[in-house]
Amino acid sequence: METVRIDEMTWVELEAKAKALHGPPIVILPTGALEQHGPHLPLGTDAMMPRFLAERIAPEIGGLVAPTLSYGFKSQPKSGGGNHFPGCVSLDASTYIALVKDVICDLARHGLSRITLFDGHMENQWFLTEAADLALRALKAEGVADVKIVKLGYWTYLTKATEDVLFPEGLLSWELEHAAVMETSVMLHLAPELVRQDLIPDGPPAAFPLYDVYPVDTRPIPETGVLSSAKSASAEKGRAVVAQVVPDIAAALREAFELGEA
Ligand code: ZN
Ligand code: MN
Repeated sequence: METVRIDEMTWVELEAKAKALHGPPIVILPTGALEQHGPHLPLGTDAMMPRFLAERIAPEIGGLVAPTLSYGFKSQPKSGGGNHFPGCVSLDASTYIALVKDVICDLARHGLSRITLFDGHMENQWFLTEAADLALRALKAEGVADVKIVKLGYWTYLTKATEDVLFPEGLLSWELEHAAVMETSVMLHLAPELVRQDLIPDGPPAAFPLYDVYPVDTRPIPETGVLSSAKSASAEKGRAVVAQVVPDIAAALREAFELGEA
């Protein structure tokens, strides 16, 4: 099969795609983090999840996948357990914004002017917005026109029906889902060899105050780093997530970039 990964192409192959008559292909840039995901999931979970999905979505839209940004903004206690856990290696916001902006700008300068910021780590969200804004401003000043950037977090595409499969008793919140049922299920489906199945944690959901404290108060954070029980995760649930979000996100990108029907 022909690769969708830009880093596996030659410049000659990439140039031909960028200059396609019907316009350049959509480039999906997976954005993740190196962040603790409990005792059972790998540190790279937030980078792997969008990469795995992007590599399945790209062929459906004639798209490409840029190398994943494996580092992201700092883990936050209420959505990722916090950056104090060993293995959380993160970027300051200003560094992260500059990194994403530079990648967007160079893709666009080479004619790859349809770019999707495809996020797997909630804490990146507003900094991706800022990077997109600053990149468009810089590109406009350079005379690089017709650049379109779409930003999305893949988890926001889960339908109510898929949510019901994942959480028969109801979803607590996406923040508390960190390293819990959804991510564990998808990893069990797509990369079971990376899941320490005997260490999947169970326990009550974390109870945080509404305010944030700096320096971080670690007392409300569960010791495992997992913010709610992952016990009911399964590969079948993961399969249901992938089967639903891949075509739905492909359709959304087709719509966003006005590509017409498949
Ligand atoms: Zn995660
Ligand atoms: Mn995360």
